[in-house]
Amino acid sequence: MRKAIVLGIESTAHTFGCGIVDSYGNILANINDTYIPVRGGIHPREGAQHHSDVAPKVIKRALNEAGLRLGHVDAIAVSLGPGLGPCLRVGATIARALAVAYNKPLVPVNHAVAHIEIAKLTTGFKNPLVVFVSGGNTVIAAYSDGRYRVFGETLDIALGNLLDAFAREVGLPHPGGPKVEELARRGERLLKLPYIVKGQDVSYSGLLTAAIRLLKEGHKIEDLCYTLQEYAFSMLAEVVERALAYTEKKELVLTGGVAANSELQRKLKIVAEEHGAEFGVVPKALAGDNGAMIAWTGVLAYKHGVTIEVEKSYVKPRWRLDEVDIPWI
Ligand code: AMP
Ligand code: MG
Repeated sequence: MRKAIVLGIESTAHTFGCGIVDSYGNILANINDTYIPVRGGIHPREGAQHHSDVAPKVIKRALNEAGLRLGHVDAIAVSLGPGLGPCLRVGATIARALAVAYNKPLVPVNHAVAHIEIAKLTTGFKNPLVVFVSGGNTVIAAYSDGRYRVFGETLDIALGNLLDAFAREVGLPHPGGPKVEELARRGERLLKLPYIVKGQDVSYSGLLTAAIRLLKEGHKIEDLCYTLQEYAFSMLAEVVERALAYTEKKELVLTGGVAANSELQRKLKIVAEEHGAEFGVVPKALAGDNGAMIAWTGVLAYKHGVTIEVEKSYVKPRWRLDEVDIPWI
């Protein structure tokens, strides 16, 4: 097939992004603008408002960076879920409008699949066990028989959400993950928190409640951050280890916003080494939500004939990873 160029739009949560990627995997542009709430977590409608405010500028900058006009791209890809309804609808509306105005095919992309595909592209891994940890997701997945199958996930809140929510209680600005990591480095005492693993799944909401209780008891913030990371990451490492033993994958890759955490990287690297698997991490610039990962997954899907009629391109806030057929593997 001749070279194809896909423009991808991301708007599932706090980030509005536009990426442009060609079928050789060259990232021609990756422009992202993240909504940072003044206080508290992300409110879906405020996020949506942010996205519609920045969208024209982000798309223009991406086209400029790639040195292209909309007429030059072969398809428009859009992340239709999972995510926050109002935020998703902004990206979907813009992508539909571009597809219709420029007569381009519209390519539906699952956001979780995109986090996985960008990790494979950047690490060169072909068939990894994937640990996808972000503000809204905690999923251990691997390809098997036509789809990415889930080998463990959170039963309640996501790992990034746990760190952000705890940071908020402490009074740290959003996003809290990096701040918790920094403070944790200076922690000295491991306090007691509940360790909740059920089968192949983890539960983080009890950990959050218990950590907030310790905070109110007046423990040192550094010790609390250290303890929270130790428990949350160890729980994840345990289920990752079992998934690795079970699937016998020879590659382990960490993706999603929380992949930037060096202590989580260190723990999972040990797990990989003990099972003779190679370990890789998605580069920081592509770890959080971004347009390039949607464009790249759009390339893979488009090359395999996956397109959607504009009339049927509903957003799917609860679109699960394991519902998506993956014809390109
Ligand atoms: P995403 O939802 O993929 O855009 O990722 C955002 C999430 O990644 C937020 O919950 C951040 O707190 C988290 N995050 C970013 N950097 C770090 C870090 N160094 N350690 C832990 N969490 C992080
Ligand atoms: Mg994400």
